[in-house]
Amino acid sequence: MHRTHVDLIQSLVHQNIIKNERIKAAMLATDRLDFSTDRLYEDAPQPSNSLLVNSKKIFFVLVGYNVTISAPHMHAHALEMLRDKLIPGARVLDVGSGSGYLTACMARLVQPGGKVIGIEHISELVQLSIKNISKNGRSLFDDGVLEIVTGDGRLGYPQGGPYDAIHVGAAAPNRPNALIEQLKPGGRLVVPVGVGNQQMMIYDKSPDGFEVHERATLGVRYVPLTDKAKQLRH
Ligand code: SAH
Repeated sequence: MHRTHVDLIQSLVHQNIIKNERIKAAMLATDRLDFSTDRLYEDAPQPSNSLLVNSKKIFFVLVGYNVTISAPHMHAHALEMLRDKLIPGARVLDVGSGSGYLTACMARLVQPGGKVIGIEHISELVQLSIKNISKNGRSLFDDGVLEIVTGDGRLGYPQGGPYDAIHVGAAAPNRPNALIEQLKPGGRLVVPVGVGNQQMMIYDKSPDGFEVHERATLGVRYVPLTDKAKQLRH
């Protein structure tokens, strides 16, 4: 079973989506199986390409609460975009932490000395993510490298900041100023922005903290950042 996860990561390396050894190691250490059920992979050993599609679909049903775990290649992209900031000692915020998969990878990259806070507005998902991460990553919580809190991530989490890196796992309708404010000088925010047509945006705060440089990377499709009540109604 573990072989399947290794195959998946290996294929992301071959496709040049994972470009860096540290990111490869963090994703290898964060077994996707811990975030779904063993049976899925037992029943359906598949080539990694269809595994990408299926794991996303299947997770939609499993996780519930109208939530998906992002596809592995999106996790890899996000980690690559934040690579230079995800170093030991860094402070990081993961908004819409959902399954907790990416949050756990980031925690592995900032230890020792760093801290990742995941913020998710569905408390059941917060509990589930803590349970799943604990299967192989209990020490991340015990060592204080990782914390997952319940709350509206559109406002960020100022009491934990400022941050070297902020990642958002759901789309903001427009420029998320509250989050940009919580970046340290030299910090980077990666967030899908837009309604309908979304683009993965990178906001870089200048080293003196006075300017913000922004650029669009790839077109993406994420669920929107929303109100809890609205999300559970769908
Ligand atoms: N990175 C996660 C993505 C999950 S999907 C993963 O790969 O598992 C997006 C997540 O954003 C969902 O868990 C959803 O509940 C959460 N979300 C949506 N709006 C939110 C808000 N206003 N505050 C916090 N979390 C939110």
